[in-house]
Amino acid sequence: MVRGLKTAVKHAAVAVVARVAPATWRWRTPGSLVVLMYHRVLPKDSPLRLSEQPGMYVSSETLDLHVRELKRRFELVHLDDWLRRAEQGQALPRIACALTFDDGWRDNYDFALPVLVKHQAPATIFLVSSYIGTFRRFWPNRLIDLIHEEFSQPGSVHLPEPLRAPVAAVLGRARARGRLDNEAIDPIVQQALKLPEDAIRALVDAAEGDRVAGNSVRETLDAHEIALLADSGLVRFGSHSATHFRLQDGTAEDVLTREIVQSRAVLQTVCRQPIDLFCYPNGVTGAAAVTLASRHYLGAVSTASGWHAPGGNPYRIPRVAVHDDISSTQDAFLACLSGWL
Ligand SMILES: [Zn+2]
Repeated sequence: MVRGLKTAVKHAAVAVVARVAPATWRWRTPGSLVVLMYHRVLPKDSPLRLSEQPGMYVSSETLDLHVRELKRRFELVHLDDWLRRAEQGQALPRIACALTFDDGWRDNYDFALPVLVKHQAPATIFLVSSYIGTFRRFWPNRLIDLIHEEFSQPGSVHLPEPLRAPVAAVLGRARARGRLDNEAIDPIVQQALKLPEDAIRALVDAAEGDRVAGNSVRETLDAHEIALLADSGLVRFGSHSATHFRLQDGTAEDVLTREIVQSRAVLQTVCRQPIDLFCYPNGVTGAAAVTLASRHYLGAVSTASGWHAPGGNPYRIPRVAVHDDISSTQDAFLACLSGWL
C-alpha cells in the first residue's frame, strides 16, 4: 500500500517536472549545452542484458523517443564542434545537446546507428583502444556472470574476499525469493568500484580462473564497424582510455600516459580521424588525469551530473545519464534532462 502510494507520488512528481522544467530552459545561460551519456542500445529481449548493470542500456525505441524529443527542443551538435566554437568565442546555439556513447559497444553499430541515421543526429562514441575488435570483456560484466553462475550452481565459483561476504548475502536473499536479478547484484558492483582498479581486476581474474578462454561473443566494435559508423557522417570518436582504467589520484605516471596519451595515438590510426575528446573511465577525475587530458585534448567529459555552459571547465564537462530505468517515457526523459528529481 505504502509502496503503491510512493510510486503514485513519484509519477505525479515526474509529470509535473516534465511540464514545468522545459519552460525554464529558456532562462538558462545563453549557449548552454546538455551532454547526454548513453552506453549500450539493446533490444528488450537481448540475452546480453543478462550480463549487464540495469543502468547501462536503452532500447532502440527509447533512443528513438529521446532523439525525437531532443530535436524539438535543442540544436543537436557534435561535442567537439561546440567546444571549438566556444573556445574561439564564436556564436553558439541558444541551447544545444550533444549525444555521447561510452565504451564502444558493438550494439552502438547494430542498434544506435539506425536511429541516428533516421533522425540525422550527430553523436560521439568513446572507444577503449585495446578492446577494439577483441573478445575482451569489462570486469563488471564478468563479475555479474560469475554471480549468476554461483546462483545456479552453488559452490562452482570461488569469490575471494572482500567480494565473498556481500555476494553470499545477496545470493541468500535471492535463493529465498527463488530468483536473482541484476538490480540485486548492482550494489556489489558499486561496492567493488571502491577498490583500486588493479585490485578488482585481480579479484575477478582469480574468481574466473580458466573460464576466460570460453568467450565467444564480440561485444565491442571492430575497425570495420568503426569505419561504417564514421562513413555515416554522423558519428565521431573520442578516447575512453586504453583499458578502461579508473584514473584516480595516485595513478602511476606511466599508466596515465598509456591510458590518456597512447590511447589517442592508437585511435587516430584506427579511426582515421582526429581524436580530440577524452572520457574519464567511470567518471573518475584524478587531478593528474585532468591536467594530462588538458594537454592532449580539446575537452573531456565526466559522469558528474548537470549541464555545461560557456566558460565552464572543458576538461570536467558534466553529463546527464540516460537509460531505460529512468527515461523510457517522454515525461521521465524530460524530468531526467531537467535534473530536478
Ligand atoms: Zn566506460
